[in-house]
This record gives sequence, C-alpha cells and structure tokens, in this order.
Amino acid sequence: MSRVYNFSAGPAILPQAVLERAAKEMLDWNNTGMSVMEMSHRSKTYIAICQGVEQKLREVMGVPEDYKVLFLQGGATLQFSAVPMNLIAPGGKADYAVTGNFSKAALKAALRYGEISTAVDTGDYSVIEPQNQLKLDPEASYFHYCHNNTVYGTVWPYIPQTGAVPVVSDMSSCILSEPIDVSKFGLIYAGAQKNMGPAGLTVVIIKDDLLERQPLAAMPALLSYREQAKAESMMNTPPAYGIYILGLVLDWIEGLGGLKAMRQLNKKKAALLYKAIDESETFSCPAEAGSRSMMNIVFKSGSEETDSKFIKEAAVKGLVTLKGHRAAGGMRASIYNAMPIEGVEKLVEFIRTFNTK
Ligand SMILES: *Cc1c(COP(=O)(O)O)cnc(C)c1O
Repeated sequence: MSRVYNFSAGPAILPQAVLERAAKEMLDWNNTGMSVMEMSHRSKTYIAICQGVEQKLREVMGVPEDYKVLFLQGGATLQFSAVPMNLIAPGGKADYAVTGNFSKAALKAALRYGEISTAVDTGDYSVIEPQNQLKLDPEASYFHYCHNNTVYGTVWPYIPQTGAVPVVSDMSSCILSEPIDVSKFGLIYAGAQKNMGPAGLTVVIIKDDLLERQPLAAMPALLSYREQAKAESMMNTPPAYGIYILGLVLDWIEGLGGLKAMRQLNKKKAALLYKAIDESETFSCPAEAGSRSMMNIVFKSGSEETDSKFIKEAAVKGLVTLKGHRAAGGMRASIYNAMPIEGVEKLVEFIRTFNTK
C-alpha cells in the first residue's frame, strides 16, 4: 500500500487513523455482525450512533442548547436554495456578500425566492472587504456569506456584524478547522466532504428561533428545516454511513486536543506554505495578506506551462491534486485538518527545489 499526499479541494483527504478504524469496523461493528453501512437507520443501534455523533459535534464545536443540528443530503448546493425557501418571509428580502464563486452561486439560487441585494461584490476575489464596506439592510430576512472561499483561497478575517439580522454562513471548507462562536450565527451549513467526512452528508446548524419562520408553502417537506428538526433528520434514510464517519473524525479531533489544537496545527501548516510561496521567485499567491485561507492555498507562476510542469512533477513525488480550480487557474493546495504537516513540508521542499527549466 502506498498513500499519496492528496491536496484535493473536495472530496478530500481523511485522517489515516479514521480510515484505518473504519476499515477495522467495516465487517462487524461492535459485535453486531454487520457494517454500519448495512444497518437500518431505524434500529436502536444506529439511532444511538447517530445521536452520539450529534452530541460529539455539539461538544467539539460548542453548539449552544438553543440550536438544532441537522444531518441532511444534497450538499452545500442544495442549501443555496433551502436557506431562502425556509428563511425569506413571503415578499421578503435578503442580503448576500459575494466573495467568490460559491457565494455568487448561492446568491443566484436565492433570486427566485425574494428580493436579493448584494451586500458586497468588488469582483476582486483576492481580498475580503472590511465590515464598513458591507451594504446592510436592517429589514433583510438574513445576511448570507461564505466564510472560506475554497476556490480563491480567501477567508473572512471577521464574522460580519449585522445587528438583529441573522447571519447565515456557508462553512463547507472551514468547519472544524478552528473554534468558532456558533452563537453569532443564525445558521451554519457545510457539505461534509472537505473537513468532516465523505460526500453525501450536509450538516446544518440552525438557531431554534429561525425554525419559527414560515417556509415557502410549495416546498418539499424534506427541505424544511422545521420538519427535519421535528423528525431529528430521520424523515427518510439519512446519509447513515457518512454520519458514522463524521463521528470517527470528531473522535480524532478530540484526541488531538479539539478545535483549539486544530487551529494551532492549521496555522502552522498554512504559515509554512505561505512562507515558501512568498519567498519563491517563481510563484506568488493572489490572496492578500489578512484574507488568506488556512485551508485552501492558491498560488501560481504566471505561466500556464510552468504551472502544468509543476503539477506533473509534484504528482510523481506523491503530491497530488494540486491543479487550481478552472475559475482561478494555477495551483491550489487544500490542506484540511487531515493533511499531515509532513505533506506540507514535502510540498514546501518541492516548491523550494522546483526547476522551471
Ligand atoms: C465545495 C463547496 C460547495 C459545494 O458543495 P457541494 O457539496 O458539492 O454542493 C459550496 N460551498 C463551499 C464553500 C464549498 O467549498
């Protein structure tokens, strides 16, 4: 067996210890004689697993009592529609900050459900605008933004302040990477396949008072936060195996010291990589200091030929999936929680010794 350092943006690397434990438990989970993948989601055994995972997520993230945790499907992309369908009052409006492709897609999806305003969009996705540049409507049903921009490699260095207007955040590519104050948000959503587990699971954390809102009448019940909360995410079969893997990932995070320790480690890894890029004569990083992501690190040479040579030669050394998103070009190293520091060190070494000729 030979494992590579996989810098994919998602689905992405998972902790090796998690995969090994999943493999060990694959055929016979806890003397049940079956895999978690094979269990009825209505069985006592599985319900206990699922409730345990929710409890652990609450502990690790510090989710307050007056929030529900939902385990859904459809990815972050379905949430682009579910959020406005559930949260915009009839004839209502919402504010969207556009700082990259996913936040733009979220805005587009919302246009069908209300009067949508752009709180900020400079078209320059290398920097996150400061709070005083946000155009905020105090009558908006909510304010939506994407905390970490997976494609452009930027992160909001602050949580937007919006007064009484609830903040909704797409945290797909940064959830569990560091502690966050959940109480500052009305709703957080994230697809699992970046930092939480396999694709197919979407986590929604929603404040109880938002469940009081009248959802769009013609909406499928499966998309209703209120209905899903009432059914404890079990209206139909939930992404059962993905939820179990999330539990293993949370155990792993806890074992390393929780989200504070995660932040230390992630900061260290990102600093190593940014330093190597900044010192390099060949590569530069488009994301501006102060807005740089710890999770997705974008860099480029300015020459497509050099970039593709870099990507090809890196792969030979076991550093794979470094090609940037088609919208951003160049390279992107996604260094989620599960990327060991050794992988980053190896990439740094390769950047330092890379010969453009
Ligand atoms: C990956 C990603 C998405 C899309 O996720 P899907 O699960 O494929 O729908 C949305 N937003 C962000 C920030 C992402 O990183």
